[in-house]
Amino acid sequence: MYLLLVEDEATLAESLLGVLVAKGHRVDWVADGRMALSQLATTRYDAMVLDLGLPYLDGRGVLDALRTAPAFQDRQDLPVLILSARDQSSDKIAALEAGADDYLSKPFDVDELEARLFALLRRRLGKTGAQLNWVGIQYDASKRSFACRGHTLAVSPREHAALLALMQAQGVPLTRLALYERVFADDEDASSLDVIDVVIYRLRKKLVPFAVSIQSVRGIGLYLASDAA
Ligand code: CA
Repeated sequence: MYLLLVEDEATLAESLLGVLVAKGHRVDWVADGRMALSQLATTRYDAMVLDLGLPYLDGRGVLDALRTAPAFQDRQDLPVLILSARDQSSDKIAALEAGADDYLSKPFDVDELEARLFALLRRRLGKTGAQLNWVGIQYDASKRSFACRGHTLAVSPREHAALLALMQAQGVPLTRLALYERVFADDEDASSLDVIDVVIYRLRKKLVPFAVSIQSVRGIGLYLASDAA
């Protein structure tokens, strides 16, 4: 997913950035609240990870602006996960009341941070029909359509189910069985796992023009990756 990380502790931010990028996420990092607002104004993120204690404008101020300022009207439902120091519990409660979706206390586990962000995205997608973005593909839940670089991706219902599952996994490999269950849930005709290979083969061909590929990890599964440099 594409994240905005707002954190003024450079050591923490750099280690977080390293892990998240290694996991396949794209992360923009800024170290103060004013920079956060300028990033939010110009860039569409999937979620924001926001520290509370920040220079110039604190995390609470960033959140208030995002949720209420007219400039952010079309993106005010961006999922926000607050990072807070242990001694800031009253700030934490205030931030949740001001519209944060979740919080983590420092120190925290990066895997937990990632899992919580995925949960926020799924919740948001289910609730508002917002967009899901991964490796340059956008999924519009309200229209049930995929687009890449402004072009609609025409897919069959089975390809739709497979591509959506791969996008929701956000780079985490899915086994053929997991994909099969998503694509052929109630399908009488699908008697063996091999049918999923046909769906994947066709999807791969459709994704080539967009520099997106379905990579496989031997013995583990398939994931969606960007071929763009
Ligand atoms: Ca701080």
